Order: sequence, then structure tokens, then C-alpha cells
Amino acid sequence: FKTVNVLDVPFINATEADFLTVLKERISGHQNTFVVTANPEIVMYAQTHPEYLSLLQQADFVTPDGIGIIKGAEMLHTPLPERITGYDTMTHLLQWGNAQHKSVYMVGAKPEVIADVADQLAVQFPNLTVLGIHDGYFNDFAPIAADIRDKQPDMVFLAVGFPKQEQLIDQYRQASNGLWMGVGGSFDVLGQ
Ligand code: UDP
Repeated sequence: FKTVNVLDVPFINATEADFLTVLKERISGHQNTFVVTANPEIVMYAQTHPEYLSLLQQADFVTPDGIGIIKGAEMLHTPLPERITGYDTMTHLLQWGNAQHKSVYMVGAKPEVIADVADQLAVQFPNLTVLGIHDGYFNDFAPIAADIRDKQPDMVFLAVGFPKQEQLIDQYRQASNGLWMGVGGSFDVLGQ
């Protein structure tokens, strides 16, 4: 996709449908893919944290997660078609993954929340293979990354909040050739 810069963050100029199509092709082709769904908070944080900005610039796809980004692009006379949120992207991919018998690895949120997420996955997406599930209050991600390397999930969802989730993905994404995506507080919603 072509990109549109909003405060130096390169957002994909794509509809949600086109983005999801490309994402699913890449996941099926076992291509290493780093997605950031960036909200205004993330963009503002990147302004004062150059290492985080450069990390966003190295992601494969940055999507506009929030109306503030859409408005900003419009004011810069480089409009973006629509919002593409982390939660919607994740739930779409879980549904698709269920239909296609894909595998997932989920890390993040509080222990009681991730336990509810595990229950919801089993009920809502019975054909999805859950290769690993872990709360987000670990001391060291290295053993989790080693487990991901062993199991090679199609999709890794990391919900430990920004900037930590993007920093971990940047550091460990070579462990598995699939999708790596930070999904912020999405597990809190999925577990309900
Ligand atoms: N979280 C976590 N580990 C941490 C800090 C936060 O797993 O060390 C989780 C927290 O429980 C919540 C999510 O990360 O589920 C952060 O949600 P928030 O909406 O604050 O993140 P954002 O969407 O702003 O990145």
C-alpha cells in the first residue's frame, strides 16, 4: 500500500477490506508481518520518543486506529479512507482463523482476564488452535518467545499496552513467521 504520513508516522492508505485481504494472504503464506494499529496517543508518544517512532516506521503496516488520525490526515490534505482498529482487526482474524483452522498465540492482560479470553476462544472459535496463552505480567519475555519459536503460530496477539508491545514485537518477531500484532486493551473486551 501507499502510505500517508501523519506527524512522520506512515499510515497505510487502504480500506479495511483491502488491508484484511493482504493480511490474510501474508498469514497463509507464513510471511513475517508486524502490524501496528496506531491511535492518536501512540502518534503523540512517538513525537517525543524517536526510538519508538523509528520502530513504527519499521512495521510492515501502520493503520489509523481512531477518528483523530482520519481527521488529521484530512487536515493535511492527504485523506485516509477509514479507521482500521486493533480490536476489529483481531476479531476479524480470529473468525477467519477459526474458519481456516489457523493457530494463535495470545499474550497479555491480567491473569483473570486472559483466563476469560481462553474460555471465549474455546466457545466462539472452536476450530482455532490456541498454541499458547499467557497473561501480560511476565518478568521476562524470552521464555515466551522461545515457546513461540517452538510452536510457530500463524498469529501472535500481544496485549500489554504500548509502547511495550511494539518494543517486544520488534525485538522478537523473528521467532515465528506469521502475524505479530499489538492489540492494547482488546483482551479486556474479548474476555467479557
Ligand atoms: N498490561 C499487561 N501487562 C503490563 C501492562 C499492561 O498485560 O505490564 C495489559 C493491561 O492489563 C491491559 C492492556 O495491557 O489489558 C493495556 O490496555 P490499555 O488500553 O491501557 O493499552 P493501550 O490500548 O492504550 O495500548
